[in-house]
Amino acid sequence: MLITAIPAFAQKQKGLPIDFPNKYAQIITAGSLKEKLSVIAGPEMEGRETASAGQKRAALYIESFFQKLGLLPGTTGGYQMQFPIYQDSLVEAILKVNARPYKLDESFYLNIASAVNGTFEVKEIVLASYGIVDSVHNDYKELDVKGKWVLILEGGPSTAAPTDGKNPLSTTAKVEKAKALGVKGIFVMTSGFPRKTVSETKGRMYLKKPPTDPLPVISVSSDVAHELLGLNPKQLLESIKNVPLGVYKSNAQFTINKRTLLLQSSNVLALLPGTDKKDEYVIITSHYDHLGKKGKDIYYGADDDGSGTTGVLQIAEAFARAKNEGNSPRRSIVFMTVSGEEKGLLGSEFYTDYPSYPLAKTSVNLNIDMVGRVDPNYKGDSSNYVYIIGDDKLSTDLKTVTDSVNKNYLNMELDRRFNDLKDVNRYYYRSDHYNFAKNGVPVIFYFNGTHPDYHRPTDTVDKINFDLMSKRVKLVFYTAWDLANRNEMVKRNIALVK
Ligand SMILES: [Zn+2]
Repeated sequence: MLITAIPAFAQKQKGLPIDFPNKYAQIITAGSLKEKLSVIAGPEMEGRETASAGQKRAALYIESFFQKLGLLPGTTGGYQMQFPIYQDSLVEAILKVNARPYKLDESFYLNIASAVNGTFEVKEIVLASYGIVDSVHNDYKELDVKGKWVLILEGGPSTAAPTDGKNPLSTTAKVEKAKALGVKGIFVMTSGFPRKTVSETKGRMYLKKPPTDPLPVISVSSDVAHELLGLNPKQLLESIKNVPLGVYKSNAQFTINKRTLLLQSSNVLALLPGTDKKDEYVIITSHYDHLGKKGKDIYYGADDDGSGTTGVLQIAEAFARAKNEGNSPRRSIVFMTVSGEEKGLLGSEFYTDYPSYPLAKTSVNLNIDMVGRVDPNYKGDSSNYVYIIGDDKLSTDLKTVTDSVNKNYLNMELDRRFNDLKDVNRYYYRSDHYNFAKNGVPVIFYFNGTHPDYHRPTDTVDKINFDLMSKRVKLVFYTAWDLANRNEMVKRNIALVK
């Protein structure tokens, strides 16, 4: 009955008892998980925001734990894989038209990420209606806009036809078209001024450098738009109705001063070398970063994803014990806790861009993100379930393994309701396993669902159900044990869906 979970070679060589991994699974207890999670999601880690002091403290804690277990550093540089993160910060944005200054958010705004540094003199502007180019319209047909500033209106007529899957009325699509025509910069007349939300002075964190040829794009109120053209609002609308539109004299200056901050974060990796299949890998992941602090509030992230991180550490401890007793797995196991997840899966993206171990030799990624709580909407036995996502997407092997391991050892309710790629929650795309899946590595994602404390300062250790969490972590451990010891790597026999 337990055949799938027991490596045949091990039974032959060592005459091991049938419940062999059971011995090591006993290390995964509610108490041991609570002890670690209390540190990881404790106040001194300050919510572990990527690139913050709290994140770096958490990284050191994880590193020293791996070291204490006797695991090898997971990268050539040590246990921590450092990676650069960029973040744009807006110092000032000034718009003057006909010598009159306008205020940010009151009369104009811009996207920090695509904003271009510098001072721009605008002496003439081409009014180009809605700036739509699709199979029905071409608002630039009669216009020469190369090297010129253009003014377009947001939205457009309902006759616009989607091209290459993009909505031609979206500002993004319009900017792309204008860029292809070689315009110098774009003003978009937009409704909703003064804006209800104040522009952030800091943009999103991102990997790598921004594109080298960005285009100034400034959204402006209708007041600013008619000043730019020297028209009153009524004349402006008339002009737009009566295409061709053409060139207008203008007198505007636009200054933007933005700084790109270079920040640093890290993934923490440890390696447990395998035996006869040590050049193949099973990688077990979680993200140790969370949302940090906002004012006085600490976002503890005990469930998200202190729980998964604690799980990875506890599984590492179980495998390290097995190794110390001469029972190393056949494949190597990589334990990796990543950062940058809450900023857009950045740490796992960096890893899969620059993998420490070949992705082609990485049999599977088991990703644990939120396993310490109960989804209040769960209909079955809420003390004995886990959501399983992704185990049927790239390989026909994984679902079989998950189900048989569960049947043999745990008998949990494995709920795959969020497994559908079309599910509105899109969980398959929302944690670090996705970067592995995107690169063809079969994945299993373990998840408890959300709850009212999700992404709130109230996601704290006292609300964790450690008994339930230990069952879920054991499921990952048994699955890893099976996948690290079976004869073949996980087959990649289902076409990749992006
Ligand atoms: Zn989160």
